[in-house]
Amino acid sequence: MKKLVFLSLIFFFTISLLVTVSLADEQTKFVGSKNSNKYHFPDCKWAQKINPKNLVTFTSVEEAKKAGYIPCKVCKPPEK
Ligand SMILES: [Zn+2]
Repeated sequence: MKKLVFLSLIFFFTISLLVTVSLADEQTKFVGSKNSNKYHFPDCKWAQKINPKNLVTFTSVEEAKKAGYIPCKVCKPPEK
């Protein structure tokens, strides 16, 4: 019986780890401003200057491109 409890603990630990990893994938990868058409890495110096109320976030290049954004020439995020 103890072995079963141990196995289910391992199971739930693994599941929660997988959930954490997949949630991390959903996090912001690129940012842009409503006032411009460029997307940046979040640590770009230009990205830091974006007013939080104008900040737009993208989880992929595809998403940024669909919104009509182009890559920043300073931080050079990937184009695809
Ligand atoms: Zn940039």
